[in-house]
Amino acid sequence: SAAVDSPTFDAEYRYVLNHTPGEYAVPTLVTFSEAAGFEALSALGGESLRTTTTPRPAAYTTLTAADARAAAEIPTAESFTFSPGANPFWRLDYYPAGVFPEATRSTGYIDYEENRRGLRHLESEHPDRLRTYTNGRSKGHLNYASDRDDAFPILFAELAADVRDRAAFAEKEKLVFTISLHGDERAGVEAGSRFIENVLRGQEPAVESLLEEFAFVFVYANPDGWKTRQPQYESYGVPGATLFERGQGAGEDTNRQYANAGWIFEGFYPAEPNGRDLAADDPDGIDRDVPPGIRETVPDALWIVETLREYDDVGYFADLHGQSVGADTFVYGLTCQDQFDQGRFQDVQRWNRTVGEEVTAVADEWRTAAEARESTVGSSVFGVPETAFAWGTIWDTLGYTGTGRLREWAQLPEESGGLGAVAQNFEMAYSNIASGNVFDPQRVDAQVRAYRAVYRRTIEHAATDVETGRRSRSGERTPTPTPTSSPSTPGRGASCWPPPSFGTRAARRRGATTPARPGRPTVGCRRGT
Ligand SMILES: [Zn+2]
Repeated sequence: SAAVDSPTFDAEYRYVLNHTPGEYAVPTLVTFSEAAGFEALSALGGESLRTTTTPRPAAYTTLTAADARAAAEIPTAESFTFSPGANPFWRLDYYPAGVFPEATRSTGYIDYEENRRGLRHLESEHPDRLRTYTNGRSKGHLNYASDRDDAFPILFAELAADVRDRAAFAEKEKLVFTISLHGDERAGVEAGSRFIENVLRGQEPAVESLLEEFAFVFVYANPDGWKTRQPQYESYGVPGATLFERGQGAGEDTNRQYANAGWIFEGFYPAEPNGRDLAADDPDGIDRDVPPGIRETVPDALWIVETLREYDDVGYFADLHGQSVGADTFVYGLTCQDQFDQGRFQDVQRWNRTVGEEVTAVADEWRTAAEARESTVGSSVFGVPETAFAWGTIWDTLGYTGTGRLREWAQLPEESGGLGAVAQNFEMAYSNIASGNVFDPQRVDAQVRAYRAVYRRTIEHAATDVETGRRSRSGERTPTPTPTSSPSTPGRGASCWPPPSFGTRAARRRGATTPARPGRPTVGCRRGT
């Protein structure tokens, strides 16, 4: 079809409009010299028209190329910008319904740039409690609009009282949430950014009351699989397609690179930012002795490990995923494939039990809404899984296994290169490529509520655990048993982790000089008794 163009289109908008299928309506922000232009735009019949006169006359709508050609003729229309995302006016820094509106009021999935900008806005309003930063960049993608390779900063968000007092921050116990590590599993981010905003706005008082003692760290783990939603990047090798991708820019599965106990499959580019000698030669970045093939292929995994090792005292670690369309369980808790002592196993059991209670309540609400919809319109537009919540290993729940998973690295003891956290991941139903990534507000809203329950209950569980003294803190934590896999007998194509000399700055920094924190009586069996 003939290219559609106008001096009012910016380069990105021009590209997106002309390189998407004819029926694809492009999320568009139009600015006007006066609000009288809204009526002419409305007459074009684009979906989800939203208008504002603050901070200037502007309208959000979705336009096909043919619609945009007509809209460009409106005399008062001044500029057209590609504007994907949840909040129609984020490009104007205007947030009438909150920075991240509830899914049922949103115009789409939260966009990568929208998220960075929205969190920065919240940070400017709450600098004492929210700190965001980026560290490292992803592999990235070719940008067909600019004909340049784009690599994307990996974003981290810290929520804590007096978050800029780094000495106080270091003293707090950390809870780390890695979210949407698989780029087509959006629920972690959709719930995470909204949860951060809700805490800052006083809508999560129980969580807010814990900000003195704890710090919550959110890792936006896969920018590459997020950005492929935009037509200027390929999705699964198809230019112009608008699908989120599971993996990252080099095509690697993003949950296979991390050092685990036992052996790891070399074909997945197992990544270690400390390089061949396993010593941190470069305190601020990826070491020079990291093999070039690893550095170039999976920089995202390297930077995530490098950055998270800077956090001392990570008590709990939750990695939030999604599962396929036909899942019969709403949320799974997937525990680590690891050896547990009795105390840790009971801790994991309690953690899952408290999460399961609230997820079950959300599933009941969702079921009621779906049934009501079915009785009024004859069908439910979104399924309801039979089971609200279940937990076990990935073998118990999903029936497969693998190597190099982030959660199992997080649970490795610090002296073996991990975080020494109690770790697991969560799986959310109706994710991945559900309905071709079409944004279904009701379904996403149910997912947000369920993962909000995971954040909330994980935090409350950590606090309860400390209060009752069931889990030892930092220096007094019961050591995790060493892996039983023999380093001397790796399979073909396998490497052994952790190697004997594996060590981290964090572990060395802590060393024997760290003062012990108040301990607690051990519940259950101690190893060797
Ligand atoms: Zn996943």
